[in-house]
Amino acid sequence: MKHLPHKTIERLSQYRRALLICLEKGQTHIYSHEIATIQHITAVQVRRDLMLIGYTGTLRKGYNVKELIELIGEIIDSSEGINVAIIGMGNLGRALINYFAGKRSHLKIVASFDINPDKIGNTMSGVPCYGTDEMSKVIAEKDIKVGIMTVPAEFASQTADLLVKAGIRGILNYTPKPVNVPKYVYLEEYDMITSLEKVAFYVKLQELE
Ligand code: NAD
Repeated sequence: MKHLPHKTIERLSQYRRALLICLEKGQTHIYSHEIATIQHITAVQVRRDLMLIGYTGTLRKGYNVKELIELIGEIIDSSEGINVAIIGMGNLGRALINYFAGKRSHLKIVASFDINPDKIGNTMSGVPCYGTDEMSKVIAEKDIKVGIMTVPAEFASQTADLLVKAGIRGILNYTPKPVNVPKYVYLEEYDMITSLEKVAFYVKLQELE
């Protein structure tokens, strides 16, 4: 599992989302080329990813949808679930809490943090908001392993440092400011502007053709 490429982990999560929709529609089996069409990738890529997790379908029926969902869950989910905190209860922090409410049982947003006294003490979609001075205590008490940073960019570094000090094991950084964390903390930086500029670049290329 340790040696699965990062991109494979991302795609497994995407395959599961697509498979859950198929299951809901009553589909029991699916071919690699069908998953590939949904994900806009090649069937070879799908087969390669699923071979990496030791799953092969049958030539006649393809993959068993339910079995595959369960196997992907065993690979990417933690059996006891992971508690998550949001740091920065502004527009994005609130949107994420609302988006996640009741969506993923193995990933639970259990706390949020802010410095604004008007927000501290409030609860949103069942998620309480604490002051950042309580971060270490709350993270330990609630066994929070992942922190999502939605603070203004100028507070990114200090927030990452606080999270590391509090014992967090993974950070998803939504601020446009890259941060440094020790090797043992898994860091994912999500920069919306870079993604948008990439899309705009490919649109420009098409227009030049
Ligand atoms: P916002 O101003 O609405 O919210 C920021 C929140 O962080 C506020 O509640 C503020 O009180 C709190 N905060 C400030 N300093 C803090 C600190 N040191 N510790 C804890 N909380 C602190 O901003 P937003 O629009 O939600 O954006 C948040 C971050 O996400 C920014 O870095 C932004 O660039 C990035 N981002 C936002 C969006 C979006 O759609 N809003 C999209 C992509 C990225």
